[in-house]
Amino acid sequence: MLYNKPDPQEVKVLTRRFGLENSASIDTYLATDGYQGFLKAREMTPDDIITEVKTSNLRGRGGAGFPTGMKWGFVPRTSPKPKYIVVNGDESEPGTCKDRLLIENDPHQLLEGMMIAGLAVDAHAGYVYIRGEYRYLIDILDKAIAEAYSRGWLGKNIQGTGFDFDVYTQTGAGAYECGEESALLESLEGKRGVPRIRPPFPAVSGAFQCPTVLNNVETYSAVPSILRDGGAAFASLGTPRNGGTRLFCLSGHINRPGVYELPMGFNLLRMIEEVGGGVWRGKKLKAVIPGGSSCPVLTADECDLAMDYDTLAKAKTMLGSGGVVVMDEDTCMVKAAMRIMRFYAHESCGWCIPCREGTAWLRKLLIRFHDGGGARSDIDLIGDVARNMLGRTFCPLGDAAAMPTISFVEKFRGEFEAHLAGRPCPHEHADHLALV
Ligand code: SF4
Repeated sequence: MLYNKPDPQEVKVLTRRFGLENSASIDTYLATDGYQGFLKAREMTPDDIITEVKTSNLRGRGGAGFPTGMKWGFVPRTSPKPKYIVVNGDESEPGTCKDRLLIENDPHQLLEGMMIAGLAVDAHAGYVYIRGEYRYLIDILDKAIAEAYSRGWLGKNIQGTGFDFDVYTQTGAGAYECGEESALLESLEGKRGVPRIRPPFPAVSGAFQCPTVLNNVETYSAVPSILRDGGAAFASLGTPRNGGTRLFCLSGHINRPGVYELPMGFNLLRMIEEVGGGVWRGKKLKAVIPGGSSCPVLTADECDLAMDYDTLAKAKTMLGSGGVVVMDEDTCMVKAAMRIMRFYAHESCGWCIPCREGTAWLRKLLIRFHDGGGARSDIDLIGDVARNMLGRTFCPLGDAAAMPTISFVEKFRGEFEAHLAGRPCPHEHADHLALV
């Protein structure tokens, strides 16, 4: 899936340099207001920078949607320990593929966002943690970092401002679990990527047990425009409490799959129809996963809603990482649930029992059920096993596996029952999602 040419509905903030010649180069960046947000921030106090980010209503784009300015405010700036800026570039959520485009097309925007975060919390070093499969991006980013050093935008006394900042890249090994912030920090430090007990949270004890700001690539990439144009301007693009634009990854059974930058609160049905060109092959919409595979599925009747954190929470699902997966009327929902669970069972790190055993049993149950060996009692059993995982696991992966499963069983129970009558899968002829 590629970044398509701009759709008329798009508002270009994060993607404003996409499509420009040599968009990743520092010359293009500097010629298009690059590093102006940093220079402006350098004239401000740390508190004023954080206030500006709070005003923007920027919320973490990695999945949780926590207010970014508030997160930065938790860092104890007076701590004698060094502070660190860490970027979560582990993008592993099935259905999500936008952080890679930000690094590929505009790596300096990410670096500038990190530097501004450094000014806000008195940090002088940052790490970009990238999933191992994104090897080509590390080359792009390393080149951008080298350019920034050679032109005086990284290193000692940046542009004569007296501010020092260094950036390093670190590769993961392709484990979904390392997208969880504390497991990421363990991996960053060279240890096995399993989560830490919290509290303390990374703001107080993060990388190398020092105060750390940890945000996702898209979150940092939004920061330069907030400082350059003002937090209020960014906030006005979205809905109350959900500022700005975000990148939505439209995939699945849709005519124009791609990554699109749209205002927060953009209507989901309009996104499918006007931006994505509608459901493919003239078929009807059956369901949508609105924010990546860990989010509860929406039926077609539930899709007339604004794509922001609060509206989706009211609809008992999540905006997540912006991975919008569209499913047409022929999609087998049992198979979709099975494929999602196959992914989570594979990616469970095995650290805690409810997740390790729960995902393994759910995978077995769903495969057996899909292949025609299920019993009616299995439908309730699948839901029960998933509900017993909720809130009982060490990190959010357990919930991420359980929540979509519960929604598939509850909202598409009829399809599970149809599998009992029409063994094997009554939809076996249809095109299925290659979610995982
Ligand atoms: Fe590991 Fe799953 Fe437990 Fe998270 S919930 S610590 S991924 S076993």
